[in-house]
Amino acid sequence: MSDDAELDELYQELIMDHGRRPRNTGVAEPCSHRAHGHNPLCGDKLALTLRVDGDVIADVKFLGEGCAISTASASLMTQAVKGRPVTEVLDLYHRFHALVTADAGETAPPDAEALGKLAAFAGVRRFPTRVKCASLAWHTLEAALRPEGASTVTTE
Ligand code: ZN
Repeated sequence: MSDDAELDELYQELIMDHGRRPRNTGVAEPCSHRAHGHNPLCGDKLALTLRVDGDVIADVKFLGEGCAISTASASLMTQAVKGRPVTEVLDLYHRFHALVTADAGETAPPDAEALGKLAAFAGVRRFPTRVKCASLAWHTLEAALRPEGASTVTTE
């Protein structure tokens, strides 16, 4: 149990750190894919740009305005997906979505190992309104990668 508490604390520090000092902010140039995300429930906004080279995400950046959780999630997402093949990234998107929407009663978050640092967001399951803050960046990424090239996604 004490290990869990320690882990929770580490995760909270990670989220706070990325919320205050987000990585990979700005605009990817040149950029091949882009999308805007909006979470009206909290007011989080996100502009995501990425450059896909072959089938690999060569660069990804974001500009956002929102709460610490949405900012931290976007920051950690860019770190997680940069340099990875699109197929792996879409798999990660589904894993992350399962992580933050899993039943709160579930003890082990799904595929926590595969998620790495992203497992830090497992705790938002307990706060339904925060799930949208944490998943906004991922929904926006998924939209940007759609073949038809979606422009704006909203969590509503
Ligand atoms: Zn938010």
